[in-house]
Amino acid sequence: MQADTSVKDALDLLAQKWKIDPKLYDLQTGRRDDVVDNPVNVGGVVFHIPVLSKDNLYVLWKCLWPDCHNCCERQGRLPLTKDDIKMISRKIGYASEPEFLKNETLVSTWQEQGMLGNIITTLTMISLKRKVDERPDQDGTPLRCRFLDDKGYCGIHPDKPGVCWLYPFASWLEADARGQPVVHATFQFTGDCPGFYLDKSMDSMMPVLQEYSAKIYSYNMAVSRTTRENYGTVNFVDVRKKKN
Ligand code: SF4
Ligand code: SF4
Repeated sequence: MQADTSVKDALDLLAQKWKIDPKLYDLQTGRRDDVVDNPVNVGGVVFHIPVLSKDNLYVLWKCLWPDCHNCCERQGRLPLTKDDIKMISRKIGYASEPEFLKNETLVSTWQEQGMLGNIITTLTMISLKRKVDERPDQDGTPLRCRFLDDKGYCGIHPDKPGVCWLYPFASWLEADARGQPVVHATFQFTGDCPGFYLDKSMDSMMPVLQEYSAKIYSYNMAVSRTTRENYGTVNFVDVRKKKN
C-alpha cells in the first residue's frame, strides 16, 4: 500500500524527538513489499499483526505514555459513539445533549484503508471538537486536543471518547463464513506514534492484546448501537472481493 505524504511528514516530525527504526519508517511510508498479515484471535477479536517476512519480524506496539502524548498533540478527529455523547456531555457540564451537540461537535466523514489496502471503510460520525473554535474544514487535520494538559493528562479521562482508548488500533466488524459478525483490529499507521517496535516473537505483546481486546470489542458494540440509532454510518468495501 502506498502511504500518503501526510504519514511521511508526521514520521519526519516524530523522528525529531524519537528514534524510529528504519524498517518501521519504510513500512509506514509504504516502502516494504514483504508485509504479511498474521491474524491472531485474542478474546474474540481478530488482531491483524503485520510481519516483515524478509526479516521474520513481527510489528508490535506498546504505549510510551507519560513520556509521549503525541496522539493527543496531533489528533485528527474525535468521532463519538452514542455512549460517548451521553458521558462527555455530562462530564463537561451540559444538562442537555442537543445543546452539547450544537456547541461542542461537528459532523465528520472520512475513509480508512486497512493495513494491506484491502478494506476501505467510509464513516460518517459526530465528532467532538478538538478546539473550541474548530471548523468543519479542519476535519482530519492534526490539532492539539483542548483537553490535554501540560503534563500529558487528559482532562476528561476516564470519560474520554472510545477512539482515544483504542489508538493506535483501528477496528471493524466483518461477517465470517457463517454470516456471524466478528470484530477485527489492526494498527493505524498515522506516523504519529513512536510506540511501534519489532520482535521475533509476539510474546511481549500478548498482555497488551488481551487488554485491548476487551476495549475494542465493547467499542465495536457501541459503534453498532450508534449507527443503528442513526447517530452515524459505517460502510465497508472489500477491494479483494470486488476484484475477484
Ligand atoms: S502516540 Fe502512541 S506511544 Fe504516544 S501516547 Fe499515543 S499511543 Fe502512546
Ligand atoms: S480527549 Fe483526552 S485522550 Fe482524547 S485526544 Fe483529547 S486529551 Fe487525548
